[in-house]
Amino acid sequence: MAHEFIPYGHQSISEEDIAAVAAVLRGDWLTCGPDVDAFERAFAQYVGAKHAVSFANGTAALHGAMSAAGVEPGDAVIVPPLTFAATSNSAVYLGGVPVFADISRDTFCMDPADADRAARECGRRVKVFAPVSFAGYPVDIAAFKELARRHGAVVIEDGCHALGAERNGKKVGAEADMTAFSFHPVKHITTGEGGMVTTDSDRYAEHLRAFRAHGITRDPSKFKRSYAGGWDNDMQCLGYNYRLSDIQCALGASQLKRVDHFVARRREIAAMYEERLRDIDGVELPPSCAGHSWHLFAARFPADRRAQIFDRLREAGLGVQVHYIPVYAHSFYREHFPQDAARFPVSEETCARELSLPIFCGMTDEQVDLAVEDVRQALRS
Ligand SMILES: *Cc1c(COP(=O)(O)O)cnc(C)c1O
Repeated sequence: MAHEFIPYGHQSISEEDIAAVAAVLRGDWLTCGPDVDAFERAFAQYVGAKHAVSFANGTAALHGAMSAAGVEPGDAVIVPPLTFAATSNSAVYLGGVPVFADISRDTFCMDPADADRAARECGRRVKVFAPVSFAGYPVDIAAFKELARRHGAVVIEDGCHALGAERNGKKVGAEADMTAFSFHPVKHITTGEGGMVTTDSDRYAEHLRAFRAHGITRDPSKFKRSYAGGWDNDMQCLGYNYRLSDIQCALGASQLKRVDHFVARRREIAAMYEERLRDIDGVELPPSCAGHSWHLFAARFPADRRAQIFDRLREAGLGVQVHYIPVYAHSFYREHFPQDAARFPVSEETCARELSLPIFCGMTDEQVDLAVEDVRQALRS
């Protein structure tokens, strides 16, 4: 008998969040106003970075970061196959060439050794290493910074899964040259659609701010031609309209006040899953560590039964998902950037066996029990 549907992720909106949004609607600034600055300042402070620059969504944030890193046509950008397509797409927008490196079995994040091999063998100028803190596991940024130093490249962390995750006493967003976040409703905090890039670099921050607002500046000190007066503005690079509105930033700032609670609850749920699934034959637990912020609970099942288990769990009312189809397996990538899948054995195996179990702040202990029981039943042949 199916129970009420349990989604794999769900936002958590409070009356305070609603009041914060309503206050903006009653005010003067719906966009380009003080709530944007306030959210950016609070976010930078939370992760421990000098700057935070908001974007319309996480993909736009990655696009801005790739542009700030100087990705030009033909440049290699080293990415893992196990991610949402946007990690790689954001480089392709600029004419960059995605060069894939396999993930590590122990973390499900890009393996620094394979990334080094890919960078050395690709025969292109390597501009960016773009590791993903997959599922909320904080990827080893120090290893990628060392690689980037040797290859003369920049580290852009895709931290879209990893708000609140920590490594060596630092939050994700404080360590890479730039880190991109998403505020889609399934992520740790939401603004409906939204994104952010954090960085300690003044130069990157300035580029990011121009890039998300048409490349236009009104600051007389930045003018490359003569300044004509108070009305003047100058478009200095080809930017986009990638701004996040004050309505959304007010929601983001309000959500950010509860982020530690959101992360703590996700950790509790992950610990319950780990304890209860450990002894069930046929389930393998995801990589775990103390600083994990658990966007996903990416369990593995036998590859030959995954489809059947997926269908059974969905029939039982459990909103499982597959994260992900390898990026290079999408038709667009097959056509434009064909790969030999045999070079990425860990990604191939993980993608063939993975099922994400529901995990979100509002999930109750009873729902965790239901999910565990569903898994137990689905594995009975
Ligand atoms: C969600 C996500 C993105 C893109 O974020 P959007 O806000 O949906 O554009 C990029 N990378 C990863 C790994 C994501 O999970």
